[in-house]
Amino acid sequence: MPIEIVLPALASDMDSATVAVWHKQEGDAVVAGEVIADIETDKATLELEVPSSGVLGKILVSAESGEVDVGTVIGLLLSQGESAESIESIAGEQSGQSQATSVDPEVTNATKSTVEKDYDIVVVGGGPSGYVTAIRATQLGMKTALIEREHLGGICLNWGCIPTKALLRSAEVYEQFKQAENYGLSVDHVGFDLAKIVARSRGIAKELNGGVRHLLKKNKVKLYEGNAQLVGGGRLKVEEEAAVTDISASHIILATGARARNLPGLEADGKLVWTYKEAMTPDVMPKSILVMGAGAIGVEFASFYNSLGADVTVVEVLSQIIPVEDPEIAALATKSFTRQGIKIMTQTMVKELRKDSDKVTVVLKQNGERSEITVDRVISAVGVVGNHENLGLEATQVEVDRSHVVVNEWSETSEPGVYAIGDLTGPPCLAHKASHEGIICVEKIAGEEGVHPLDKSAIPGCTFSRPQVASVGLTEPAAKEQGYDVRVGRFPFQGNGKAIAMGETEGLIKTVFDKATGELLGAHMIGAEVTEMIQGFSIAQTLESTEQELMQTVFAHPTLSEMMHEAVLDAYHKVIHF
Ligand SMILES: Cc1cc2nc3c(=O)[nH]c(=O)nc-3n(C[C@H](O)[C@H](O)[C@H](O)COP(=O)(O)OP(=O)(O)OC[C@H]3O[C@@H](n4cnc5c(N)ncnc54)[C@H](O)[C@@H]3O)c2cc1C
Repeated sequence: MPIEIVLPALASDMDSATVAVWHKQEGDAVVAGEVIADIETDKATLELEVPSSGVLGKILVSAESGEVDVGTVIGLLLSQGESAESIESIAGEQSGQSQATSVDPEVTNATKSTVEKDYDIVVVGGGPSGYVTAIRATQLGMKTALIEREHLGGICLNWGCIPTKALLRSAEVYEQFKQAENYGLSVDHVGFDLAKIVARSRGIAKELNGGVRHLLKKNKVKLYEGNAQLVGGGRLKVEEEAAVTDISASHIILATGARARNLPGLEADGKLVWTYKEAMTPDVMPKSILVMGAGAIGVEFASFYNSLGADVTVVEVLSQIIPVEDPEIAALATKSFTRQGIKIMTQTMVKELRKDSDKVTVVLKQNGERSEITVDRVISAVGVVGNHENLGLEATQVEVDRSHVVVNEWSETSEPGVYAIGDLTGPPCLAHKASHEGIICVEKIAGEEGVHPLDKSAIPGCTFSRPQVASVGLTEPAAKEQGYDVRVGRFPFQGNGKAIAMGETEGLIKTVFDKATGELLGAHMIGAEVTEMIQGFSIAQTLESTEQELMQTVFAHPTLSEMMHEAVLDAYHKVIHF
C-alpha cells in the first residue's frame, strides 16, 4: 500500500503552502529523513523530509499547482518492491482523474459533489469593503471566508481609485514638466508615451491586487475564487473553476459592489463609447472626447485627457459640475477647467449618440436648444448601479431599492444573518465609506464595545482633477437649508507662502460653522494637495472640535495646511494673511 506524503504544518502559523521544488523525480529511491521537497509559505522556504525509505511513486502536487492546504496529500511513496500500478488507483482517487494536477482533495472532489464548510462570517466580494471586513473579522477571532469572482481589491484597486490616480499622476508630472521654465529649469523635449502611462497604471493595480492576496493569507482568511450565490438558510453556493462548494455561515456579508450605469439608448459599447474601464486603458490618444457626467469620475477623466492634449467637452445635466460640492467651489473648478481649455456644458442633456466607424456625433439639448458635437470617443460617467443580480436574493427577504440593498445603520438587511456593505448599499460610492461600513458591521456582530454607526455626514470626498477638490460635511446652501445660521470663512491660496513657493496659487479653502454653537458644519477646498489636507477637518468633525479649539491649534509653517487655520480664523474675523 503506497504511503501518502502529506503536507505538514512546518510552522505554527502555516495553514497552506506551495511545493516550490521536488528534489526527487517519480521513480527515484529515497531514504527516510532525506529532504524530498522545498515548501514555500508567504514567510519562508522550508524543507520537507520524506517519512520513510522507498521510491517516489507519484507527484500529486507540482510546483505549478499553486498553493495547497496543510493536510493535502502531495505525493505517494512506494515501499521497496511495491508495484507502481497500486498507485494509479490511489492517485486517481486523490485527484478525481488520472492526470493528477489538482491538489486539494476537498476541492477536487467537489467537482463531482459539494463539500460543506461552516464559517462564522462569509463575505461575498473582495473589494475594499469585503477584504477589509474579512481581515477585521479574523482579527476579532471569527472563522472567516471571502469569496471573490474576478479581482481581489474590487473596482477600487483594479479599475477605480488606484489606477486612475496613477494615470492622473502621469498627467500631473507631465504638466509640471511643461512648466519647468517657471521653476528655472530647462527640459529639452516634453512628451509622453501613452502605452507606458497605461502600463504603469495597470502595473500598480496588479501590485496592489497581489498585496490584498497576501494580507488575506496573513490574516488567515479562507479565500474562494469564484461566484457566490445565496441559497437560503444561511447557506451559499460557491462556484469556482474546478469546484462547487456549499458553505454555511452564521453571518453572510454581501459586498458585491457596483458597476457603471448605462443610460437607455446611450449605452457604452467599449469601442466608441467608453466606460471607465476603456477610458483607463486607451490604446491611442483620442483627439477629442466628450465626457457624459461631471461627477468625480467624469471630471478626473476630463482632467487627464485634457492634460495629454485631447479636446475635451464635459456635459452635465445638473446646474453645476461635481454636483455634490459647494457651489462656490464648483464655480471655481469650472473657471479653472475652462481656462485650461475644457468645455463645460451644464444643464445639458445628451439625447442621442450617432456612431460612425471611428467617430460619435453627440446630440445635446440645452435650454430647449438642440446642438451636435462630433468627437472621437465618448466617456460615459453617469453613475453606478449595485451588483445585486444573480446573488440569490429572491430566496431571501433582502430588500433592493433601485439596485441598492436596503440596510439599517448596522448594515443589517431584512433577512436575519444577512448584511450588505459598500457600493452595494448606495451612495456615497467611495472606497473609504465601503471599508468603514464593513468594519462597523463585523465589530457589531462580534459584540465589540464602543461601536458607533457610520456618520455619513462626516465622510470626506475627493476629486483628483487639476486642481483637486475635497470636502467634508455640509455645503453652505445645505447648512442653510437645514436651518443653520452660518458663519463662513475663506482663505485663498494666493495668501499662503508655501503655495506661492510651490507655484500653486490657484485655490480656496472655505469653512462653514454653526453661528450658534461654533460647530464646524463643513469644509470645502479646491487647489493643490487639498485631497491630503481635508483629513484635518475630518478629524476635527469626528472629535466635534469647537471653533475655539481649531483656532488654538498650532499649524506648522510654511505649509498649505496653514490655510485651513486661516479659513477658520476668517470665519471669526481674525484672519491674518489676507
Ligand atoms: C474610475 C473610478 C474611480 C474611482 N475613484 C475613487 C476614489 O478616488 N476614491 C474613492 O473613495 N472611491 C473611488 N471610486 C469608487 C470605489 O472604487 C468604490 O466605492 C469601491 O470600489 C467600492 O467598494 P466595494 O467593496 O463596495 O465594491 P467593489 O470594489 O465593486 O468590489 C466588489 C467585488 O465583489 C465581487 N463580486 C460581485 N459579485 C460577486 C459574486 N456574486 N460572487 C463573488 N464576488 C462577487 C466583484 O468582482 C468585486 O471585486 C472610483 C470608482 C471608479 C469606477
